[in-house]
Amino acid sequence: MPVVNRIAEFQEEMTAWRRDIHAHPETAFEENRTSDFVAEKLAEWGIEVHRGMATTGVVGVLDGQKGGNGRSIGLRADLDALHIHELNEFDHRSRNEGKMHACGHDGHTTMLLGAAKYLAETRNFSGRVCFIFQPAEENEGGGRVMVEDGLFEKFPVESVYGMHNMPGTPVGKVDMKAGPAMASFDIFEITVTGKGSHAAMPQQGHDPVLAASQIVTALQGIVSRRVDPMESLVVSVTQFHAGDTWNVIPNQAVLRGTVRCFKPEVRDFVEAEIKHIAETIGGAHRATLDYRYERRYPALVNTERETEIAASIAAQIVGEQNVQANAPALMGSEDFAYMLQEKPGCYIWLGNGTEGGPGGCSVHNPHYDFNDDISVLGASYWAKLVETTMPRAN
Ligand SMILES: [Zn+2]
Ligand SMILES: [Zn+2]
Repeated sequence: MPVVNRIAEFQEEMTAWRRDIHAHPETAFEENRTSDFVAEKLAEWGIEVHRGMATTGVVGVLDGQKGGNGRSIGLRADLDALHIHELNEFDHRSRNEGKMHACGHDGHTTMLLGAAKYLAETRNFSGRVCFIFQPAEENEGGGRVMVEDGLFEKFPVESVYGMHNMPGTPVGKVDMKAGPAMASFDIFEITVTGKGSHAAMPQQGHDPVLAASQIVTALQGIVSRRVDPMESLVVSVTQFHAGDTWNVIPNQAVLRGTVRCFKPEVRDFVEAEIKHIAETIGGAHRATLDYRYERRYPALVNTERETEIAASIAAQIVGEQNVQANAPALMGSEDFAYMLQEKPGCYIWLGNGTEGGPGGCSVHNPHYDFNDDISVLGASYWAKLVETTMPRAN
């Protein structure tokens, strides 16, 4: 594969960085060691380092030869790990009990560092590249905090790009999709308050367990009966908490769950419809309802032009036949969506390997590991993206 040869020479070094980060996983807004690691490397290569955004975020700024020409591009990686007990036994397994790089953000950080090292050494582009290392991608929306902290005011890039490894997709294959590519992510909580009683005398109370059970069942009708079948939507109840013992009907039941979809109007409808269903059924059981709906990540929407650019750059590295530019969208979510709400750009999926082989284990699994064989591909993609979109003026 026509990777950048100079970057291929960094393979061993990149593997060492990646495994070092893997062994020291840190979670949302506490990525202090990882942030130091990144900042030290960038500074060592003569890249201007900005710290403190979203607590542990790092932004490196590098101008091409003959200074900037007003053009600027942002490349983004994520620093954080997950709350998972790692079950791998290799030498670079987690040293931080209960925390694990199970989503490959150690690899994402490494690939962007590899590109930064190469671009700082060669500066074979004009314009400015901003290397954005954000904290807290998992659950806590570090990408949103970066944007709120003024990321794009301080670093006014014209477009921004992201990348995620993809287990199940072979090494050397790259997927992407213009338009909505990953779903929005919301959470809801329904507290059903009835009236507790002796379990043998249910007529003396108002059973919140029965009411909540019917609410769970009725919520399934939103996808099947209330929204156009051509839309993509998930409504999942994932928690049901009630009661403490055998012979007491409790006072309260609590349901929690998540909603995933692609369109703002579907999102608005579902938020209202859950409330309507829960209140109606709760009311029939003479229970009172507390409803909390919280919007987490918006849908991730890639722009057409930048997706075409990303596809053509990926084709330079892995060959056109290995690039799927109109891949199926995913119901998973990603906080890079916040950056794409502000700037045009594209988020791609880089094959991490297939089942049974290295990199084939799914993300968020205690046996997952980022595949070091793809680091050179990812870093080469970043480097070519900069050199091609902001070519050096001769
Ligand atoms: Zn993840
Ligand atoms: Zn991830």
